[in-house]
Amino acid sequence: MKFEYRIIAGYVLVGCLWILFSDKLLNYFIRDPDMLTRIQTFKGWFYVLITAILFYAILKSHLVKIRNAEQKAIESDRLKTAFLQNISHEIRTPMNSIVGFSELLKDKKLSESEKDQYLEMISKSSDQLLNIVNEVLDISLIETGNLSVNLRRVQLNNLMKEIYLSYKPLINKEISFTMSTGLSDTLSLILTDVIKIRQIISNLLNNAVKFTDKGHIGFGYTLEENELNFFIEDTGIGIPSDSHDKIFERFLKVGSDNERLYEGVGLGLAICKGNIDLLNGKIWMDSKPGKGSKFLFTIPYKPVYEEEPVKGKNKDLVRTLNNLTILVAEDDDVNFLYIKEIFKGAGAEILHAINGREAVEMCEKNDRIGIVLIDIKMPVMNGYEAIKKIREFRPGLPIIAQTAFALSNEMLKAFNAGSNDYISKPFTREQLLSIVSKNMSS
Ligand code: ADP
Repeated sequence: MKFEYRIIAGYVLVGCLWILFSDKLLNYFIRDPDMLTRIQTFKGWFYVLITAILFYAILKSHLVKIRNAEQKAIESDRLKTAFLQNISHEIRTPMNSIVGFSELLKDKKLSESEKDQYLEMISKSSDQLLNIVNEVLDISLIETGNLSVNLRRVQLNNLMKEIYLSYKPLINKEISFTMSTGLSDTLSLILTDVIKIRQIISNLLNNAVKFTDKGHIGFGYTLEENELNFFIEDTGIGIPSDSHDKIFERFLKVGSDNERLYEGVGLGLAICKGNIDLLNGKIWMDSKPGKGSKFLFTIPYKPVYEEEPVKGKNKDLVRTLNNLTILVAEDDDVNFLYIKEIFKGAGAEILHAINGREAVEMCEKNDRIGIVLIDIKMPVMNGYEAIKKIREFRPGLPIIAQTAFALSNEMLKAFNAGSNDYISKPFTREQLLSIVSKNMSS
């Protein structure tokens, strides 16, 4: 029953009971008719007073809730409008550059270096666009509760070194960049969701790089109690204290229109928080405008006390690919050609299956197939089913699933189906070659 009907029904019921029983009681105890009339009047006033107090209390609590909700709706509307304006700017800028430089590339008189420069601009802008799409996708997955945690063994120190090396070239030479680890390599073998940890640290480092022109950027972790405490600090522009408690809200960007415009749609920190919540951790920050910012987050420490099998990581890539038969299960011709082009000249034989069933049949008939690269979305039989079927008769065959974007659900399903690894689309030549060589040498 609706709230207002309940209130009215309650009011009428209590009123009726009050009139019935109080009258009976008064008639029983009081015999004098004058006295009875006076008490009846007081009784009426008493009822009015009590119901007024009750109504006030109930209405007040409801009005507070309604006003809070209204305030939130106004704020959320403001943030969404700001987001839409911002995202349209963020999409238009790289789009303009892609359209513009593609047009310029048509000019036959361009020198090789000019062409390279334009291609570099197009590639950078595509990355920027892809980043926005990924962020919007991530936040909607987080908000709809569709992201799950995929725990795997991770050598945390290696991951930190990898991140350090990938950021080193991006950082201005005048900024000192450091990384510190708080555990020995053996103890840093932990169980966690490596994709999420990498994404969180990268998002925080991206901000540090974006908002710091000079001084220092550092990141690392320590072990305290049973928690890994990560930090990412910088000596950049800092964040005013009135924004500290809202900073992890989605779409929030500090600063007004007349200040320097930094790229970003205000989703990075909300995604970090969503991911850290999923990992049962906490995130907070400390910052002073003009001095810098420090972001800290924790995750539970879950060590794995086993020796990791040593992998022959540095085998020569060409030797790995030479004479290797690679089955590419991919229904999209353009994607297949791209993959074929990547392996061209490496001495590998490339076979093509256009759907999952064909991939299974080819693996059954052809023993020379040494590795399978399989797309998840395919007609007739999808990638998951095909992987499961191939696993039944070729348990040791390395299978790499190709998933769309970095959706950890898709990855998890691919791992559950039996794939050894995954690569998310779009991927670069280096990423594909390194994943194939990793799986061939392990
Ligand atoms: P964006 O993609 O716009 O950077 P974030 O959610 O990552 O979105 O960050 C939200 C806002 O918080 C940024 O626009 C910026 O104003 C502020 N911010 C985040 N990190 C830093 C930092 N290290 N230094 C200064 N400001 C920061």
